[in-house]
Amino acid sequence: MLVKNVYELIGHTPLLKLHVPTPNNSQIYAKLEMFNPGGSIKDRLGMSLVENGIKQGHINMGTTIIEPTAGNTGIGVALAAQKYKLPVKLVVPEKFSFEKQTLMAALGAEIINTPSSEGIKGAIAKAKELAADISNSFVPLQFENQNNPDVYERTLAPEILADLDNLQIDAFVAGAGSGGTFAGTAKGLKSVYPDLITTVVEPEGSILNGGQPHSHKTEGIGVEFIPPFFKDVQPDKIKTISDDDAFKQVRDMARYYGLFIGSSSGSALAASLELAQELPEGSNIVTIFPDSSERYLSENIYQK
Ligand code: PMP
Repeated sequence: MLVKNVYELIGHTPLLKLHVPTPNNSQIYAKLEMFNPGGSIKDRLGMSLVENGIKQGHINMGTTIIEPTAGNTGIGVALAAQKYKLPVKLVVPEKFSFEKQTLMAALGAEIINTPSSEGIKGAIAKAKELAADISNSFVPLQFENQNNPDVYERTLAPEILADLDNLQIDAFVAGAGSGGTFAGTAKGLKSVYPDLITTVVEPEGSILNGGQPHSHKTEGIGVEFIPPFFKDVQPDKIKTISDDDAFKQVRDMARYYGLFIGSSSGSALAASLELAQELPEGSNIVTIFPDSSERYLSENIYQK
């Protein structure tokens, strides 16, 4: 396969039929988003935020793009901004992985760390503060920008439908950080399978199930406020997965199936296995593996 630039490699990721045994002969399919060139599902979003920002007149030559991020969106935005030679400042709570922050910097982005204790809300506030001080700057703000769910509805959902070639999908499972992946993909799949059971996944310490917010080791998912995108697609079920259960799936996937998945993928798999027990015999479940374990090795992702 000859490609002309890395941007052509965004999307069209493989859908893996997992051989993980389920209690009721359900089948789990996982979209392997680590195969995007920036290593995660967020390359799709980065490209969409930058190109729509240009189309809508928010970004011109010389605009500084500022974005609060847990890391993967930052890598996606930095990659897309490179195509247009735009400067990028990424506001990242300091707890997020060394590897992700190194990759953002490698792409030429400037990183501004905010205290972990202030969470993503602290990073959002800091990004807005920086934008107020920098003339000709733009904050795409993935947490509110409709381009976020839209890009997954437009790209990820049709890819899954095409890969499964008319096979009935009974359930869709995805973690939520900004909630864009879940809302956009669920909407796209529901347009073909209206009875699809939509399940959103969060770590303990996220607030969807009414729990108290606290820190967690599962990276990339977990919310401090209800994502506004959920107004379009209400999740039918919410699964709260402990760090231990997510990391067990991370280890098992490498040990028994040769696949390096990040902790949010482990969490999605644990939730899919739980959900399988609640579905009729032989259901088809689709989930998303957003990134790879390789960007968490410094956090001892394979240690118990
Ligand atoms: N997993 C990982 C590793 C992520 O980086 C993100 C995005 N923060 C997600 C899952 C969740 O995606 P979304 O923001 O679309 O809910």
